[in-house]
Amino acid sequence: MQRLYDTREGKKVDLALREPGKVGIYVCGVTVYDLCHVGHARTLVAFDVVARHLRARGLEVRLVRNITDVDDKIIRRGHAEGRPAAEVAKHYADAMMADMLALGVAPPDVEPRATEHIADMIEVIRRLEARGLAYAAEGDVYYAVAGFPSYGALSGQSIDALQAGARIEVGEHKRSPLDFALWKGAKPGEPAWPSPWGLGRPGWHIECSAMAHRYLGDAFDIHGGGSDLIFPHHENEIAQSEGAYGSFARYWMHSGMVNFGGEKMSKSLGNVVTIRRVAETHDLEALRLLLISVHYRSPANFTIARDAEDRVVYPELDEAEARLDYFYRTLERLDAFLAATKLGGEPPSSEPASKADAAMDDDFNTAAAIGHLYDAFVLANKLLDDAKALPKAERARTLAAIARDARSIGATLGIMRRPPSEFLVARRERLCVRRKIDGAAVEARIAERSGARARKDFPRADEIRAELKAAGVELMDTPTGTTWRVTG
Ligand SMILES: [Zn+2]
Repeated sequence: MQRLYDTREGKKVDLALREPGKVGIYVCGVTVYDLCHVGHARTLVAFDVVARHLRARGLEVRLVRNITDVDDKIIRRGHAEGRPAAEVAKHYADAMMADMLALGVAPPDVEPRATEHIADMIEVIRRLEARGLAYAAEGDVYYAVAGFPSYGALSGQSIDALQAGARIEVGEHKRSPLDFALWKGAKPGEPAWPSPWGLGRPGWHIECSAMAHRYLGDAFDIHGGGSDLIFPHHENEIAQSEGAYGSFARYWMHSGMVNFGGEKMSKSLGNVVTIRRVAETHDLEALRLLLISVHYRSPANFTIARDAEDRVVYPELDEAEARLDYFYRTLERLDAFLAATKLGGEPPSSEPASKADAAMDDDFNTAAAIGHLYDAFVLANKLLDDAKALPKAERARTLAAIARDARSIGATLGIMRRPPSEFLVARRERLCVRRKIDGAAVEARIAERSGARARKDFPRADEIRAELKAAGVELMDTPTGTTWRVTG
């Protein structure tokens, strides 16, 4: 049974589906006014893993993730750059999709854009108006929060307490401070669409209610997003959708934030690391591994520091890439062993695989799943190093089971999906650049050592190995020749 933490309930609950075998999920996507940063990666990777695991468990998942392509920030950026807001949005939507692909985030089943669903939003607003939950004022339309008594239930706040902290901004025409805009009357220089209330554009919250209804119906299973969206965005979505259609998402899941140097990462800090910036120095699969190495609800730490040469470094990301390097090296060893070994029959299911599956069933505990994966690889290396650790046939079957199950866990987590050599060669090249190691010179030294070994000049061969080791290069002698890696 799949368990998940429901924000509204404030505890873990069993996932009871509306329709057996099928899961409808809506995740709030990105407002496309700039390049995606590590915080975006966190949210979208978290829900990508949720969808992957539910699919691996045999469920038919329909994942809807929107693109917010009309918004104050997009309009401001368009003005600053002297181009239409729509052009800004298209540019950054394309960039977002490329970045997510590079991060191994599968495209959602439906990726609706706000500007393509204006009619759907108008329909929701009309329904709210008909039910007395919305009112027009000076070209704007507002939601009347007083008419929705359970407002605040998701974030665990009472209307009275929220009311005390809210105020009406200049230029707003709402009756009560908690009311929020469903539709904004047109202003010069801004994109606008015709509506029953005149020319204007939608407020931000209404698009998710409209698009969730369009693609998932009156009610669906899981609504997800970053925890910064709980209030007011998700509270407002609930008020809109339940107000208009009587029902909405059954479960609410929220992913944690990224702590940048101990503080919540935010644009205003000016410390934003884009996914593209990370890709300049690291493998994005390492970023993915870093983000899923903590439980999706916990904060993830991403420290930015400077090294002795004043270069920007990311210590946690370095560690994650080293861990991924260990995973891929182990897989490469396993593949080489299995290619040279005859197996009698299908290997049994391995213990780490069932433990990892159980961890994922328990509120998608990727951190524990990765721990089990790590344990499996430690065992694999032990068995590979010691031919006598187990009887021959059992050893081979165990190693085959680990190789197969590690890849299956990897598929759920969205890691280890490339041939190991592809990752390992690219990482070696990156480390060579960083440590100023000349790969051709290393190869020449290896050839020199092979010559020494052929002449049985083992002291000389050992000397070369030691010299390279001191320079951060480790040699590995395999049946097909000597390979090398940069350590650390
Ligand atoms: Zn939303």
